[in-house]
Amino acid sequence: MTIEPNETHDPNARSFVASANVSGCDFPLQNLPYGAFTNGLNSCSSLCAGIGDQVLDLAAAASRNLLAEVDDETCEACKEPCLNSLMGLGPARWTALRRAIFQLLRADSPRRTPAAECLRPMRDVAMVLPAAIANYTDFYASVHHAANVGSLFRPENPLLPNYKWVPIGYHGRASTVVVSGTDVRRPRGQWKPSAAEAPHYAPARKLDYELELGALVGVGNEMGEPIPIAEASGHIFGLCLLNDWSARDIQAWEYQPLGPFLAKSFATTISPWIVTAEALVPFRVPVAARPAGDPQPLPYLADDAVQKFGAVDITVEVYLRSAAMRAANCPPHRLSRGNFQDMYWSFAQMIAHHTSNGCDLRPGDLLGSGTISGPSAEARGCLLEITRGGAEPVTLPDGSKRTFLEDGDQVTLRGFCDRPGAVRIGLGECSGTLIAAR
Ligand code: MN
Repeated sequence: MTIEPNETHDPNARSFVASANVSGCDFPLQNLPYGAFTNGLNSCSSLCAGIGDQVLDLAAAASRNLLAEVDDETCEACKEPCLNSLMGLGPARWTALRRAIFQLLRADSPRRTPAAECLRPMRDVAMVLPAAIANYTDFYASVHHAANVGSLFRPENPLLPNYKWVPIGYHGRASTVVVSGTDVRRPRGQWKPSAAEAPHYAPARKLDYELELGALVGVGNEMGEPIPIAEASGHIFGLCLLNDWSARDIQAWEYQPLGPFLAKSFATTISPWIVTAEALVPFRVPVAARPAGDPQPLPYLADDAVQKFGAVDITVEVYLRSAAMRAANCPPHRLSRGNFQDMYWSFAQMIAHHTSNGCDLRPGDLLGSGTISGPSAEARGCLLEITRGGAEPVTLPDGSKRTFLEDGDQVTLRGFCDRPGAVRIGLGECSGTLIAAR
Protein backbone atom coordinates (compact mmCIF):
# COMPACT_ATOMS: atom_id res chain seq x y z
CA MET A 1 0.00 0.00 0.00
CA THR A 2 1.29 3.46 -0.91
CA ILE A 3 1.56 5.38 2.34
CA GLU A 4 4.75 7.43 2.01
CA PRO A 5 4.59 10.95 0.53
CA ASN A 6 7.18 11.72 -2.16
CA GLU A 7 8.31 14.83 -4.08
CA THR A 8 4.94 15.00 -5.89
CA HIS A 9 3.34 15.93 -2.55
CA ASP A 10 5.83 18.76 -1.81
CA PRO A 11 3.59 21.58 -0.52
CA ASN A 12 6.01 24.20 -1.85
CA ALA A 13 5.95 22.98 -5.46
CA ARG A 14 4.26 25.29 -7.97
CA SER A 15 3.23 24.91 -11.61
CA PHE A 16 3.93 27.17 -14.59
CA VAL A 17 0.13 26.97 -15.13
CA ALA A 18 -0.81 30.03 -13.07
CA SER A 19 -4.41 28.94 -12.33
CA ALA A 20 -3.06 25.83 -10.56
CA ASN A 21 -1.36 27.99 -7.93
CA VAL A 22 -4.46 29.92 -6.87
CA SER A 23 -5.46 29.13 -3.29
CA GLY A 24 -8.59 26.96 -3.18
CA CYS A 25 -8.04 25.51 -6.66
CA ASP A 26 -9.22 21.88 -6.96
CA PHE A 27 -6.37 20.89 -9.27
CA PRO A 28 -2.99 22.16 -8.03
CA LEU A 29 0.26 20.46 -9.08
CA GLN A 30 -0.05 18.07 -6.12
CA ASN A 31 -3.36 16.61 -7.41
CA LEU A 32 -3.03 15.70 -11.13
CA PRO A 33 -6.29 13.75 -11.50
CA TYR A 34 -6.97 11.75 -14.67
CA GLY A 35 -9.92 12.05 -17.03
CA ALA A 36 -10.95 11.71 -20.67
CA PHE A 37 -12.13 14.46 -23.00
CA THR A 38 -13.33 15.10 -26.53
CA ASN A 39 -12.69 18.32 -28.41
CA GLY A 40 -16.07 18.25 -30.09
CA LEU A 41 -14.57 17.68 -33.55
CA ASN A 42 -14.79 13.90 -33.37
CA SER A 43 -16.30 11.39 -30.99
CA CYS A 44 -13.04 9.70 -30.01
CA SER A 45 -11.82 10.63 -26.55
CA SER A 46 -8.29 11.33 -25.30
CA LEU A 47 -6.87 10.92 -21.82
CA CYS A 48 -5.78 13.95 -19.84
CA ALA A 49 -4.54 15.15 -16.48
CA GLY A 50 -6.19 18.13 -14.78
CA ILE A 51 -3.99 21.13 -13.86
CA GLY A 52 -5.60 24.38 -12.72
CA ASP A 53 -8.18 25.35 -15.35
CA GLN A 54 -6.39 23.36 -18.08
CA VAL A 55 -6.22 19.76 -19.26
CA LEU A 56 -2.92 18.21 -20.26
CA ASP A 57 -3.49 16.00 -23.33
CA LEU A 58 -1.65 12.82 -22.34
CA ALA A 59 -1.62 11.32 -25.83
CA ALA A 60 0.00 14.48 -27.17
CA ALA A 61 2.53 14.56 -24.32
CA ALA A 62 3.41 10.88 -24.83
CA SER A 63 3.72 11.29 -28.61
CA ARG A 64 6.17 14.17 -28.17
CA ASN A 65 8.27 12.17 -25.70
CA LEU A 66 7.59 14.66 -22.92
CA LEU A 67 7.02 12.02 -20.22
CA ALA A 68 10.48 11.39 -18.78
CA GLU A 69 11.38 7.89 -17.59
CA VAL A 70 7.96 6.47 -18.46
CA ASP A 71 8.19 3.10 -20.21
CA ASP A 72 6.71 2.30 -23.63
CA GLU A 73 3.78 0.36 -22.23
CA THR A 74 2.72 3.32 -20.09
CA CYS A 75 3.11 5.74 -23.04
CA GLU A 76 0.89 3.46 -25.15
CA ALA A 77 -1.70 3.37 -22.34
CA CYS A 78 -1.70 7.21 -22.37
CA LYS A 79 -2.80 7.12 -26.03
CA GLU A 80 -5.89 4.99 -25.34
CA PRO A 81 -9.39 6.54 -25.30
CA CYS A 82 -10.03 5.48 -21.69
CA LEU A 83 -8.06 4.74 -18.53
CA ASN A 84 -8.50 0.94 -18.35
CA SER A 85 -5.08 0.00 -19.77
CA LEU A 86 -3.29 2.43 -17.47
CA MET A 87 -5.34 1.15 -14.53
CA GLY A 88 -4.17 -2.39 -15.23
CA LEU A 89 -0.46 -1.46 -15.18
CA GLY A 90 -0.23 -1.18 -11.39
CA PRO A 91 1.14 1.15 -8.73
CA ALA A 92 4.83 1.29 -9.84
CA ARG A 93 3.88 2.52 -13.34
CA TRP A 94 1.22 4.87 -11.93
CA THR A 95 3.87 6.43 -9.70
CA ALA A 96 6.31 6.86 -12.61
CA LEU A 97 3.66 8.56 -14.76
CA ARG A 98 2.56 10.87 -11.95
CA ARG A 99 6.19 11.86 -11.33
CA ALA A 100 6.73 12.55 -15.06
CA ILE A 101 3.62 14.76 -15.32
CA PHE A 102 4.61 16.55 -12.10
CA GLN A 103 8.09 17.31 -13.47
CA LEU A 104 6.67 18.39 -16.82
CA LEU A 105 4.23 20.90 -15.30
CA ARG A 106 6.28 22.33 -12.46
CA ALA A 107 7.25 26.00 -12.52
CA ASP A 108 10.90 25.36 -13.38
CA SER A 109 10.14 22.66 -15.99
CA PRO A 110 12.81 22.62 -18.75
CA ARG A 111 10.09 21.37 -21.14
CA ARG A 112 7.66 24.13 -20.36
CA THR A 113 7.26 25.34 -23.97
CA PRO A 114 6.39 21.97 -25.58
CA ALA A 115 4.28 21.07 -22.51
CA ALA A 116 2.21 24.24 -22.96
CA GLU A 117 1.39 23.07 -26.49
CA CYS A 118 -0.32 20.01 -24.97
CA LEU A 119 -2.59 22.11 -22.73
CA ARG A 120 -6.18 23.06 -23.52
CA PRO A 121 -8.58 25.17 -21.46
CA MET A 122 -11.08 22.97 -19.59
CA ARG A 123 -13.91 25.20 -20.81
CA ASP A 124 -13.10 24.25 -24.43
CA VAL A 125 -13.34 20.48 -23.99
CA ALA A 126 -16.13 18.07 -23.06
CA MET A 127 -15.30 15.55 -20.35
CA VAL A 128 -16.57 12.01 -20.94
CA LEU A 129 -16.60 8.82 -18.85
CA PRO A 130 -12.94 8.22 -17.96
CA ALA A 131 -13.12 4.42 -17.99
CA ALA A 132 -15.07 1.63 -19.65
CA ILE A 133 -16.95 0.45 -16.57
CA ALA A 134 -17.86 -3.21 -16.96
CA ASN A 135 -19.07 -3.77 -13.42
CA TYR A 136 -20.51 -1.56 -10.70
CA THR A 137 -21.11 -2.57 -7.07
CA ASP A 138 -22.64 -0.25 -4.49
CA PHE A 139 -21.92 -0.70 -0.79
CA TYR A 140 -23.59 0.61 2.38
CA ALA A 141 -20.49 1.47 4.42
CA SER A 142 -21.75 4.37 6.59
CA VAL A 143 -23.18 3.13 9.89
CA HIS A 144 -24.74 6.58 10.39
CA HIS A 145 -26.62 6.29 7.10
CA ALA A 146 -27.67 2.72 7.86
CA ALA A 147 -28.88 3.71 11.34
CA ASN A 148 -30.70 6.87 10.14
CA VAL A 149 -32.52 5.00 7.38
CA GLY A 150 -33.15 1.96 9.58
CA SER A 151 -34.70 4.15 12.28
CA LEU A 152 -37.34 5.38 9.81
CA PHE A 153 -38.57 1.84 9.22
CA ARG A 154 -37.57 0.03 12.45
CA PRO A 155 -37.33 2.66 15.24
CA GLU A 156 -36.75 0.01 17.92
CA ASN A 157 -34.11 -1.89 15.90
CA PRO A 158 -32.46 0.37 13.30
CA LEU A 159 -29.38 -1.73 12.50
CA LEU A 160 -29.83 -5.26 11.22
CA PRO A 161 -27.71 -7.87 13.06
CA ASN A 162 -25.28 -8.44 10.17
CA TYR A 163 -24.28 -4.79 9.70
CA LYS A 164 -21.20 -4.70 11.94
CA TRP A 165 -19.89 -8.03 10.62
CA VAL A 166 -20.26 -7.85 6.86
CA PRO A 167 -19.81 -4.95 4.39
CA ILE A 168 -23.29 -4.87 2.82
CA GLY A 169 -23.57 -4.26 -0.91
CA TYR A 170 -25.54 -5.06 -4.04
CA HIS A 171 -24.62 -5.44 -7.69
CA GLY A 172 -25.46 -2.21 -9.48
CA ARG A 173 -25.95 -1.48 -13.15
CA ALA A 174 -22.82 -0.40 -15.08
CA SER A 175 -24.57 0.49 -18.35
CA THR A 176 -26.32 3.50 -16.82
CA VAL A 177 -23.27 5.08 -15.16
CA VAL A 178 -23.03 8.54 -16.74
CA VAL A 179 -20.60 11.42 -16.46
CA SER A 180 -21.33 14.66 -14.61
CA GLY A 181 -23.44 17.07 -16.68
CA THR A 182 -25.71 14.38 -18.12
CA ASP A 183 -29.43 15.03 -17.55
CA VAL A 184 -31.25 12.31 -15.61
CA ARG A 185 -34.81 11.43 -16.55
CA ARG A 186 -37.26 10.72 -13.74
CA PRO A 187 -38.05 7.02 -13.99
CA ARG A 188 -41.47 5.42 -14.18
CA GLY A 189 -41.93 2.29 -12.17
CA GLN A 190 -44.14 0.11 -10.04
CA TRP A 191 -44.88 1.43 -6.58
CA LYS A 192 -47.68 1.37 -4.06
CA PRO A 193 -49.13 4.55 -2.54
CA SER A 194 -49.50 3.89 1.20
CA ALA A 195 -53.31 4.25 1.14
CA ALA A 196 -53.76 2.11 -1.98
CA GLU A 197 -54.57 -1.59 -2.03
CA ALA A 198 -52.58 -2.34 -5.18
CA PRO A 199 -49.47 -0.87 -6.81
CA HIS A 200 -49.54 1.10 -10.06
CA TYR A 201 -47.01 1.97 -12.76
CA ALA A 202 -46.30 5.71 -12.71
CA PRO A 203 -43.48 8.28 -12.55
CA ALA A 204 -41.60 7.97 -9.26
CA ARG A 205 -42.54 10.73 -6.81
CA LYS A 206 -39.86 10.16 -4.16
CA LEU A 207 -36.76 10.86 -6.24
CA ASP A 208 -33.60 11.18 -4.15
CA TYR A 209 -29.83 11.51 -4.54
CA GLU A 210 -27.17 9.68 -2.54
CA LEU A 211 -23.84 11.38 -1.76
CA GLU A 212 -21.11 8.78 -2.29
CA LEU A 213 -17.52 8.30 -3.36
CA GLY A 214 -16.61 5.81 -6.07
CA ALA A 215 -13.41 3.76 -6.10
CA LEU A 216 -12.09 2.66 -9.49
CA VAL A 217 -10.28 -0.65 -9.46
CA GLY A 218 -6.75 -0.71 -10.88
CA VAL A 219 -5.17 -4.14 -11.18
CA GLY A 220 -7.79 -6.86 -10.88
CA ASN A 221 -7.64 -10.43 -9.60
CA GLU A 222 -8.11 -13.86 -11.17
CA MET A 223 -11.46 -15.51 -10.62
CA GLY A 224 -11.05 -17.86 -7.66
CA GLU A 225 -8.15 -15.83 -6.15
CA PRO A 226 -9.32 -13.50 -3.37
CA ILE A 227 -7.43 -10.25 -2.75
CA PRO A 228 -5.99 -10.38 0.80
CA ILE A 229 -6.90 -7.41 3.00
CA ALA A 230 -3.22 -6.39 3.29
CA GLU A 231 -3.02 -5.99 -0.52
CA ALA A 232 -6.45 -4.50 -1.11
CA SER A 233 -5.49 -0.79 -1.01
CA GLY A 234 -2.96 -1.36 -3.80
CA HIS A 235 -5.81 -2.36 -6.12
CA ILE A 236 -7.47 1.07 -5.91
CA PHE A 237 -6.54 3.33 -8.85
CA GLY A 238 -8.38 6.38 -7.54
CA LEU A 239 -11.58 7.94 -6.27
CA CYS A 240 -14.37 10.02 -7.80
CA LEU A 241 -17.64 11.55 -6.62
CA LEU A 242 -20.73 9.39 -7.19
CA ASN A 243 -24.47 10.16 -7.06
CA ASP A 244 -26.56 7.01 -6.66
CA TRP A 245 -29.92 8.43 -7.83
CA SER A 246 -32.67 6.53 -6.00
CA ALA A 247 -36.45 6.29 -6.41
CA ARG A 248 -37.56 5.66 -2.82
CA ASP A 249 -41.15 4.71 -3.67
CA ILE A 250 -40.06 2.09 -6.22
CA GLN A 251 -37.36 0.91 -3.79
CA ALA A 252 -39.78 0.48 -0.88
CA TRP A 253 -42.08 -1.74 -2.94
CA GLU A 254 -39.47 -3.87 -4.75
CA TYR A 255 -36.56 -4.34 -2.33
CA GLN A 256 -37.67 -7.41 -0.42
CA PRO A 257 -36.29 -10.04 -0.56
CA LEU A 258 -33.45 -9.46 -3.08
CA GLY A 259 -32.53 -5.78 -2.57
CA PRO A 260 -32.52 -2.71 -4.85
CA PHE A 261 -33.25 -3.22 -8.55
CA LEU A 262 -35.07 -0.72 -10.78
CA ALA A 263 -35.14 1.93 -8.02
CA LYS A 264 -31.47 2.57 -8.70
CA SER A 265 -30.55 1.12 -12.10
CA PHE A 266 -31.96 4.06 -14.11
CA ALA A 267 -28.89 6.30 -13.53
CA THR A 268 -25.67 6.75 -11.52
CA THR A 269 -23.62 9.92 -12.07
CA ILE A 270 -19.86 10.13 -11.48
CA SER A 271 -17.46 13.07 -11.62
CA PRO A 272 -15.17 13.12 -14.68
CA TRP A 273 -11.94 13.35 -12.66
CA ILE A 274 -10.31 10.38 -10.95
CA VAL A 275 -8.15 11.58 -8.06
CA THR A 276 -5.47 8.95 -7.71
CA ALA A 277 -4.77 6.95 -4.57
CA GLU A 278 -1.29 8.46 -4.62
CA ALA A 279 -2.59 12.06 -4.63
CA LEU A 280 -4.64 11.16 -1.53
CA VAL A 281 -1.64 9.92 0.47
CA PRO A 282 -1.29 13.09 2.63
CA PHE A 283 -4.96 12.80 3.59
CA ARG A 284 -5.00 9.20 4.80
CA VAL A 285 -6.24 8.79 8.36
CA PRO A 286 -7.10 5.88 10.67
CA VAL A 287 -10.39 4.07 10.18
CA ALA A 288 -12.81 5.41 12.81
CA ALA A 289 -12.51 3.46 16.06
CA ARG A 290 -15.41 1.11 16.63
CA PRO A 291 -17.54 1.94 19.68
CA ALA A 292 -17.02 -0.25 22.75
CA GLY A 293 -19.08 -3.40 22.46
CA ASP A 294 -18.91 -3.59 18.63
CA PRO A 295 -17.35 -6.75 17.20
CA GLN A 296 -13.87 -6.52 15.70
CA PRO A 297 -13.66 -7.32 11.96
CA LEU A 298 -13.13 -11.00 11.16
CA PRO A 299 -9.47 -11.78 10.32
CA TYR A 300 -9.98 -11.63 6.52
CA LEU A 301 -11.17 -8.00 6.97
CA ALA A 302 -8.59 -6.95 9.60
CA ASP A 303 -5.18 -5.43 8.94
CA ASP A 304 -3.06 -3.04 11.02
CA ALA A 305 -2.04 -0.82 8.08
CA VAL A 306 -5.63 -0.56 6.87
CA GLN A 307 -6.69 0.39 10.40
CA LYS A 308 -3.99 3.09 10.53
CA PHE A 309 -4.26 4.53 6.98
CA GLY A 310 -7.39 3.02 5.43
CA ALA A 311 -9.71 6.02 5.74
CA VAL A 312 -9.35 9.31 3.86
CA ASP A 313 -10.15 12.79 5.17
CA ILE A 314 -12.39 14.06 2.36
CA THR A 315 -15.04 16.70 3.03
CA VAL A 316 -18.07 15.99 0.86
CA GLU A 317 -20.96 18.35 0.14
CA VAL A 318 -24.30 18.37 -1.67
CA TYR A 319 -25.76 21.46 -3.36
CA LEU A 320 -29.23 21.86 -4.83
CA ARG A 321 -30.25 24.47 -7.40
CA SER A 322 -33.83 24.50 -8.64
CA ALA A 323 -34.88 25.74 -12.07
CA ALA A 324 -36.35 28.84 -10.38
CA MET A 325 -33.05 29.49 -8.57
CA ARG A 326 -31.14 29.24 -11.85
CA ALA A 327 -33.57 31.64 -13.56
CA ALA A 328 -33.10 34.13 -10.69
CA ASN A 329 -29.31 33.74 -10.74
CA CYS A 330 -29.47 32.43 -7.18
CA PRO A 331 -26.40 30.37 -6.22
CA PRO A 332 -26.72 26.65 -5.35
CA HIS A 333 -27.93 25.93 -1.81
CA ARG A 334 -25.84 23.59 0.33
CA LEU A 335 -27.96 20.76 1.74
CA SER A 336 -25.27 18.89 3.66
CA ARG A 337 -21.59 18.54 4.49
CA GLY A 338 -19.97 15.36 5.77
CA ASN A 339 -16.64 13.57 5.81
CA PHE A 340 -15.59 10.27 4.27
CA GLN A 341 -13.57 9.38 7.38
CA ASP A 342 -16.83 8.72 9.25
CA MET A 343 -17.38 5.46 7.31
CA TYR A 344 -17.64 2.18 9.23
CA TRP A 345 -15.99 0.11 6.45
CA SER A 346 -12.99 1.18 4.33
CA PHE A 347 -12.64 0.61 0.58
CA ALA A 348 -9.83 -1.90 1.35
CA GLN A 349 -12.27 -3.96 3.42
CA MET A 350 -14.90 -3.70 0.68
CA ILE A 351 -12.40 -5.03 -1.89
CA ALA A 352 -11.23 -7.87 0.39
CA HIS A 353 -14.85 -8.79 1.09
CA HIS A 354 -15.98 -8.47 -2.56
CA THR A 355 -13.29 -10.90 -3.72
CA SER A 356 -13.36 -13.17 -0.64
CA ASN A 357 -15.58 -15.73 -2.40
CA GLY A 358 -13.35 -15.75 -5.49
CA CYS A 359 -15.27 -13.09 -7.45
CA ASP A 360 -12.88 -11.27 -9.78
CA LEU A 361 -12.55 -7.50 -10.12
CA ARG A 362 -11.19 -5.93 -13.32
CA PRO A 363 -9.51 -2.64 -14.21
CA GLY A 364 -12.16 0.07 -14.36
CA ASP A 365 -14.70 -1.70 -12.15
CA LEU A 366 -16.57 0.82 -10.00
CA LEU A 367 -17.27 0.42 -6.27
CA GLY A 368 -19.65 2.88 -4.60
CA SER A 369 -19.06 3.60 -0.92
CA GLY A 370 -22.71 3.90 0.01
CA THR A 371 -24.29 7.14 1.20
CA ILE A 372 -21.80 9.14 3.28
CA SER A 373 -23.50 10.35 6.44
CA GLY A 374 -21.96 11.42 9.73
CA PRO A 375 -23.02 11.68 13.36
CA SER A 376 -24.33 15.28 13.03
CA ALA A 377 -27.60 16.42 11.45
CA GLU A 378 -25.61 18.52 8.97
CA ALA A 379 -23.91 15.38 7.63
CA ARG A 380 -26.90 13.48 6.25
CA GLY A 381 -26.11 12.33 2.73
CA CYS A 382 -29.56 11.99 1.13
CA LEU A 383 -33.02 13.62 1.30
CA LEU A 384 -34.56 10.50 2.85
CA GLU A 385 -32.44 11.19 5.95
CA ILE A 386 -32.57 15.01 5.85
CA THR A 387 -36.37 15.15 5.63
CA ARG A 388 -36.94 12.06 7.83
CA GLY A 389 -38.69 10.18 5.06
CA GLY A 390 -40.48 13.28 3.78
CA ALA A 391 -41.90 14.34 7.17
CA GLU A 392 -39.67 17.42 7.61
CA PRO A 393 -39.35 19.40 4.35
CA VAL A 394 -36.34 21.59 3.52
CA THR A 395 -36.95 25.22 2.50
CA LEU A 396 -34.87 26.49 -0.42
CA PRO A 397 -33.74 30.13 -0.97
CA ASP A 398 -36.46 30.53 -3.67
CA GLY A 399 -39.07 29.88 -0.96
CA SER A 400 -40.09 26.47 -2.25
CA LYS A 401 -39.99 23.35 -0.11
CA ARG A 402 -38.54 19.92 -0.83
CA THR A 403 -39.24 16.53 0.59
CA PHE A 404 -37.81 14.85 -2.49
CA LEU A 405 -36.45 16.20 -5.81
CA GLU A 406 -38.59 18.05 -8.35
CA ASP A 407 -38.13 18.21 -12.10
CA GLY A 408 -35.54 20.84 -12.99
CA ASP A 409 -33.58 20.40 -9.76
CA GLN A 410 -29.83 20.30 -10.29
CA VAL A 411 -27.90 18.24 -7.71
CA THR A 412 -24.15 18.89 -7.42
CA LEU A 413 -21.71 16.94 -5.26
CA ARG A 414 -18.36 18.43 -4.31
CA GLY A 415 -15.41 17.04 -2.40
CA PHE A 416 -12.04 18.27 -1.20
CA CYS A 417 -9.12 17.37 1.07
CA ASP A 418 -7.55 20.04 3.26
CA ARG A 419 -5.11 19.23 6.05
CA PRO A 420 -2.23 21.14 7.68
CA GLY A 421 1.09 20.52 5.91
CA ALA A 422 -0.48 19.59 2.58
CA VAL A 423 -1.81 21.56 -0.38
CA ARG A 424 -5.61 21.43 -0.63
CA ILE A 425 -6.85 19.23 -3.47
CA GLY A 426 -10.39 18.83 -4.82
CA LEU A 427 -12.41 16.16 -6.59
CA GLY A 428 -14.19 18.67 -8.82
CA GLU A 429 -17.94 18.36 -9.31
CA CYS A 430 -20.52 15.65 -9.93
CA SER A 431 -23.65 17.31 -11.25
CA GLY A 432 -26.91 16.24 -12.82
CA THR A 433 -30.29 17.84 -13.54
CA LEU A 434 -33.51 15.89 -13.11
CA ILE A 435 -35.83 16.12 -16.11
CA ALA A 436 -39.50 15.14 -16.37
CA ALA A 437 -40.60 11.53 -16.85
CA ARG A 438 -41.59 10.35 -20.30
MN1 MN B 1 -26.17 3.92 -2.74
